[in-house]
Amino acid sequence: MSPTMRSRPIGPSQRVYSNSAALVSTDLAPRALLGELQAVENSFGRKRQGQRWRSRTLDLDIVLWSGGCWSDEQLTVPHTEFRKRDFVLGPAAGIVPDWRDPITGLTIRQLYHRLAKGLTRPPPPPR
Ligand code: ATP
Ligand code: MG
Ligand code: MG
Repeated sequence: MSPTMRSRPIGPSQRVYSNSAALVSTDLAPRALLGELQAVENSFGRKRQGQRWRSRTLDLDIVLWSGGCWSDEQLTVPHTEFRKRDFVLGPAAGIVPDWRDPITGLTIRQLYHRLAKGLTRPPPPPR
């Protein structure tokens, strides 16, 4: 498990969040794992309010899977947004920097550096 990193919320939520990445070894198939993660979210008092990105006590997402890609109505792996999220890539780079994204072929470390460069580069001067 990585150290935690604080992040500002996306969308209407008012809270600041703590984020972490964990490498999990399990015999569960991805859909069964998602069910377990949602049960843990529920046990932390999370209510599904119908609106995405509302304040929540806990959000457990599957970012990558050793089996590569998964896609059905309930679950998409790799997580569709993870390449844009420094609060995912930063913690994940601390524990599995060489894990390769099956879609882009880039490692977590490369995705994180690419995002960090994009975030810190000043806008180009006007022509
Ligand atoms: P975001 O996708 O922006 O991180 P979120 O995590 O806040 O949003 P949730 O309300 O936790 O969204 O989940 C909404 C639905 O997303 C879940 O019911 C689940 O079926 C689906 N889902 C699809 N792919 C994944 C994934 N890789 N990990 C977790 N949930 C997923
Ligand atoms: Mg999420
Ligand atoms: Mg979620």
